[in-house]
Amino acid sequence: MIRTAVTISVGDELLAGETLDTHGRHLAATLAARGCRVLEHRVEGDDADAIAAAIRDAANRVGLVVITGGLGPTLDDVSRDAVAHAMRSPLVEDAAARRDLEAWYAGRRRPMPGGNLRQALRPDAAICLANPNGTAPGLQGRIGDTEIVVLPGPPREMHPMFERVLESLPLATPRPMIVVRASGIGESDAASLIESMMERDNDLPVATTVSQGVLSARIRGRDERDRGRIETMASTIESAWRPFVFGRGDVTLAEAVGFELSRADLTLATAESCTGGMIGGAITDVAGSSAWYRGGWVTYENRRKIEDLGVDPSVIERDGAVSKAVVAAMAVGAAKRAGADLGIATSGIAGPDGGSADKPVGTVWIAVSHAGDVEARCFRFPGDRGVVRSRTVAMALQMIRFRATGVEASLLWERTEAS
Ligand code: ATP
Repeated sequence: MIRTAVTISVGDELLAGETLDTHGRHLAATLAARGCRVLEHRVEGDDADAIAAAIRDAANRVGLVVITGGLGPTLDDVSRDAVAHAMRSPLVEDAAARRDLEAWYAGRRRPMPGGNLRQALRPDAAICLANPNGTAPGLQGRIGDTEIVVLPGPPREMHPMFERVLESLPLATPRPMIVVRASGIGESDAASLIESMMERDNDLPVATTVSQGVLSARIRGRDERDRGRIETMASTIESAWRPFVFGRGDVTLAEAVGFELSRADLTLATAESCTGGMIGGAITDVAGSSAWYRGGWVTYENRRKIEDLGVDPSVIERDGAVSKAVVAAMAVGAAKRAGADLGIATSGIAGPDGGSADKPVGTVWIAVSHAGDVEARCFRFPGDRGVVRSRTVAMALQMIRFRATGVEASLLWERTEAS
């Protein structure tokens, strides 16, 4: 059974900070679910000797080494040479890989550039892994008892190939895991509601994380026998965090909103100022959202709020664009003009400039209207422009969800005394 691994991302662009190295996270999470711990993740440039040394060093310590990237056809793609060097096995042409490459180009009626034949090379002692999503085959071999796997860099090629490799490796069956997702409650408040479940010396401790305004609680069992227990724990967390919990697993807040709106047979329109279309973007990420989302407006300038949504200019003059009256009028105007049941509107000061003593940076008004009845809330979000905007999106979506399900609860960073 393979219980430990080292992962190596290859590419000068990763070291230069031009590409965010996301493969380490993906591989570590996937392997952890199979009971295999990543002891080290490293990034190497396009240097065959350095990559070969990293592979040999790792092979002495763990049962699995996964290398990603550097399998392309150009001269700076050196992972193939590096693994051949590390395995002390010369490169040979793989007949099947060559046929696949030729067929790939023939199928697209394109001549194969000469250099691409390099991609049919493999260390004599390794095998090629077919790549249905691109031209570069992966490689799999051994150094002593350690499995060496080389995968192409593009995620849409790497992820499915890795899934197939996992099937061939002696790994534990995936550990059962449930992730509970919530939004609108602070991490420390949420943690204190489930304090006893989070103690580190519990045999199944709960771990919480926050990202983009979404709080997640992860409960991982050791094996299938724990499934019943983690199910009970997840239900306990869902009760403790009600009404902020919107789902489990990979569900997004926008998907949860869509689920509730569809269930209540309601439609939605958006009117966005400081979020500039991010709410509409999150909603249209959800396949099938046209069933409940009518569309919306990005009304950044005051004139657009007036002309596109029918906001009274004297109200903007009196209260300013970041105010209860304006955001309420935006929500009502959007719903009316789009023929939707609900309208959601945002107007705020995302920063870094534009704040004042009574409306500092981070002040955001969000309104949700339903059949003409409108509710507006004021938030004071901490963080920079990006954080303020993403928190606004999460709170706006949660407000829609609350409205669709008849929930009354105050949300994180809400200022109740504001008007
Ligand atoms: P190609 O045939 O496309 O050249 P390759 O196996 O040589 O494939 P790279 O050239 O190293 O792969 O990377 C191709 C692309 O894949 C990169 O431009 C980048 O977008 C993505 N990529 C590579 N490595 C990573 C990584 N560690 N994290 C995130 N993305 C990555």
